[in-house]
Amino acid sequence: MNAVEVLKSEIQQVYNQLDSFIETWIENYTSSGGQVFCHKGCNNCCDLPVSITLAEALLISDNFNNDVVNEDKLRTYLDKLIKYVKESKSELDYLKSRRINIGMCPLLNGEGACSIHKKHPIPCRKTLSVLNHQFCKAEAINNLPPLEVRKYLDKVKSISDVTGGRGHYVSETSNLGSYLQNSLRGNTKKLLGFDIFGDLALMVFLAKQEEFIKVVTTKNVRKVTRYLQDNNLLHPYIISIEQAKAKGFG
Ligand code: SF4
Repeated sequence: MNAVEVLKSEIQQVYNQLDSFIETWIENYTSSGGQVFCHKGCNNCCDLPVSITLAEALLISDNFNNDVVNEDKLRTYLDKLIKYVKESKSELDYLKSRRINIGMCPLLNGEGACSIHKKHPIPCRKTLSVLNHQFCKAEAINNLPPLEVRKYLDKVKSISDVTGGRGHYVSETSNLGSYLQNSLRGNTKKLLGFDIFGDLALMVFLAKQEEFIKVVTTKNVRKVTRYLQDNNLLHPYIISIEQAKAKGFG
């Protein structure tokens, strides 16, 4: 198996591990009276920034299970994202208004459902809302009258044992997801000598470019960086390349 095939086989196992943890977590939580509000057809959080590993991007870009990425939609979204990133005064500025300025994920289909559901990446899998999904919408809290904001904050307080006190998403599934992404990144470094991690649309777009995959498999980080520069796709807010540490001699 070449490096690309190894990464693709690894990610499927990681998804199985995360899904089985999430399933058990939901069972335990709901059987003790809790409620998880995520459901099929809801896309209220699908405009949040999502960063993925190379392994996730490779799996998503594969056309199987009828999960087909609409490349035109992806390219249009990416052009908008890159223009916006370049115009942003700071990373904080970019993140603050990204949901409003960039809009929904280009992988949503015409019916508003995830077009790659079986392969959707770790950040989307691990995000579970334990408050009504209306609160997941962009600007949802900012648009509430003051009394409703108070009620929301009281609710957030009441679920802090499962959210870690931050917002209304489950912390245990989120932490496991982050841990699994980090371990995938570590394995990518071992396999290729570098890791590449970035915005969902950008990573999927790259994984679909034959030329990019050829460059990646040279395991030469300089060539990969040059490819991104030449194609106007290298920007620190949306992509990062980390080289593996050189082995010491002693
Ligand atoms: S990949 Fe699917 S679940 Fe994730 S943000 Fe995009 S449409 Fe939503």
